[in-house]
Amino acid sequence: MSNEKIPYKIYLEESEMPRAWYNLRADMKNKPAPLLNPETLKPMTEKELSKVFCEELVRQELDEDTAYFEIPEEIRNFYKMYRPAPLVRAYCLEEKLGTPAKIYYKFEGNNTSGSHKLNSAIAQAYYAKKQGLKGVTTETGAGQWGTALSMACSYFDLDCKVFMVKCSYEQKPFRREVMRTYGASVTPSPSTETEVGKKILAAHPGTTGSLGCAISEAVEKAVNTEGYRYVLGSVLNQVLLHQSVIGLEAKAALDKYGVKPDIIIGCAGGGSNLGGLISPFMGEKIRGEADYKFIAVEPASCPSFTRGKYAYDYCDTGMVCPLSKMYTLGSDFIPAPNHSGGLRYHGMNPILSQLYEDGLMEAVSVKQTEVFEAAEQFARVEGILPAPESSHAIKIAIDEAMKCKETGEEKTILFGLTGTGYFDMMAYEKFHDGKMTDYVPSDEELEASLKKLPKV
Ligand SMILES: *Cc1c(COP(=O)(O)O)cnc(C)c1O
Repeated sequence: MSNEKIPYKIYLEESEMPRAWYNLRADMKNKPAPLLNPETLKPMTEKELSKVFCEELVRQELDEDTAYFEIPEEIRNFYKMYRPAPLVRAYCLEEKLGTPAKIYYKFEGNNTSGSHKLNSAIAQAYYAKKQGLKGVTTETGAGQWGTALSMACSYFDLDCKVFMVKCSYEQKPFRREVMRTYGASVTPSPSTETEVGKKILAAHPGTTGSLGCAISEAVEKAVNTEGYRYVLGSVLNQVLLHQSVIGLEAKAALDKYGVKPDIIIGCAGGGSNLGGLISPFMGEKIRGEADYKFIAVEPASCPSFTRGKYAYDYCDTGMVCPLSKMYTLGSDFIPAPNHSGGLRYHGMNPILSQLYEDGLMEAVSVKQTEVFEAAEQFARVEGILPAPESSHAIKIAIDEAMKCKETGEEKTILFGLTGTGYFDMMAYEKFHDGKMTDYVPSDEELEASLKKLPKV
């Protein structure tokens, strides 16, 4: 440990940036369960998956043994435009809280998409291009993933077709225009462009859509369009692999100053930023080299870890995707429309689900008004206007720091600040006007969607 004062921002040199992604599965004793074919209930083969996904990404999805995947030079060069992302010591927040805790955050909002999603988007676009594809389809909820993918596709000159959850399409017109600036075509979902979209519209007229519906539409479009594949911005193991760049950089920066975190916190939607942030630290924990406390933070209105079941489920509402064993609320679950904070997906990445099942990680849920209180508190002292999703992690980081204030413990806390919230000002407005309410689904509501889990 050096006595040098730790700077507000710890940057890595370009030469210190990771050259390989880390695949946590290689070190896991209990591997995540395989994806199943929904018809045969047998594990999905490489060939089956390759009809939907790019070949190299399928290989990454299925590989449980290779610990490191070299990051191709083209992707590393793109990363250099907005990475390394700063690791910030939150001195101002610590002072404001009057806590002896030391708080660090890894800031991923330093690019136009405003989130960590670009880390995987650029990788997925690269492999699609390398395979000679014409384009890709995807879904987007709040819009960060669609934006990131649009940027990545325009860089590699690929077509990009985005199905955007209808309520976001209407509430976030500026997000849509950013995507169109990068050349993507954006369709509100559910739409009449796909069979599954028509079916969902017939069953739920007037629905404002969900991520699960939009995924079904994007998959159908990809499978039925020559030279297209489907790409997904979270949940899949390949996405976690790409996002390991977050944790690898954070760890390298902390190692530079001999700092070891006690608690590592991330918000959890589909699990990609959390999985990416914790991967190298969790690897150490599993190998018995170090110990850390990991906390996943999810919204009380969409509580897959804390109130869901660990079971095989569909990844999408239309049931066209493979079955995945994960913590889930049921593929039918749609969070209450008053939920503004993102992280709306019904399931959770299989790797994180297995880690949670094995007791290697904790999870908590938080209500959206307390999330926005934390967001505002953070914005006022640290200068960054955080995304509502990221603010779930901020809320628990502050809680943990306040516990230290009570006990006098000088714990080191690391959390992922996944992005900025400039496109979420309608949610901030609701909060400021006192119109934001908290919705927590009842047990009956959750049972209704969990009852429909497939029998596997
Ligand atoms: C998408 C997103 C998340 C949640 O997705 P994960 O896959 O769980 O990481 C969190 N924060 C921001 C800013 C996002 O855009």
